[in-house]
Amino acid sequence: MIKANFHTHTTLCDGKDTPEEMARTAYDDGLLALGFSGHMDQDVHMDWDAYVTEIRQLQDKYRGRMDILLGVELDTLYDPASCPGAEFRIGSTHFVDVEAECDTAVDWTPERLETLCLEAFGGNWMALVRAYYELEATTHDRTECTFVGHFDLVSKFNEGGKYFDETSKEYLDPALEAMEYLVGEGVPFEVNCGAMARGIRSQPYPRRELLSALHEMGGQILVNSDAHSADALCGGLDDGARFAASCGFTSALVLGHDARGEVVMREVPLGEGAQ
Ligand SMILES: [Zn+2]
Ligand SMILES: [Zn+2]
Repeated sequence: MIKANFHTHTTLCDGKDTPEEMARTAYDDGLLALGFSGHMDQDVHMDWDAYVTEIRQLQDKYRGRMDILLGVELDTLYDPASCPGAEFRIGSTHFVDVEAECDTAVDWTPERLETLCLEAFGGNWMALVRAYYELEATTHDRTECTFVGHFDLVSKFNEGGKYFDETSKEYLDPALEAMEYLVGEGVPFEVNCGAMARGIRSQPYPRRELLSALHEMGGQILVNSDAHSADALCGGLDDGARFAASCGFTSALVLGHDARGEVVMREVPLGEGAQ
């Protein structure tokens, strides 16, 4: 299976373990490449210079043994100039772009999401969904991301169809419209196994209908854990790869430094024994 992860949080943002601990676990688990992707968004953002210094030290420490990449998870609504020198960017939509007294994040708690829907959209879930995907469609234009993070995060607390039917045309159409636009921009998507590995979701992001559609559109994927602790670093990666294969994918992308030190993307097979 794929021995790499490019969505990794640490104590420098909202993770539980230090970069050093995450790197050690990745190495012990046999990863060939590890991409750090600290948050830069309106709620969680790092001391960028301190982050760069620490990740560069780890790059030196593991050089020749494991390829470490200095990335960022940049929110669609955050300042793209906040992360100079990032070697890759995850473009992630965590908020909806509305004027509201309440929190506008879709992924904090079910209660906060319900409040957002009620106060900013009059309780109309499909209006919230449409606003989310309208913003999601702009993530590459705004962040110039290397890949799109957790495309359908708006469904995080919707397990079992608690708020809306994720298989309905009303839900899928705005999502597919955003997806089509992003695929047209040539940007890959991650298969994000984080919520699935933590038992919040039964599927990765994007869910089956959307990931299958991505394959039909000719889109490409990376498989990531979105780990916030060392024990979750490799959790779900194999399941995510199998899920992607069941949606039609035979390969995924991995990032790495080439001989000149430039970050490049290459395609690897999803099957057993792939690296
Ligand atoms: Zn995120
Ligand atoms: Zn993340």
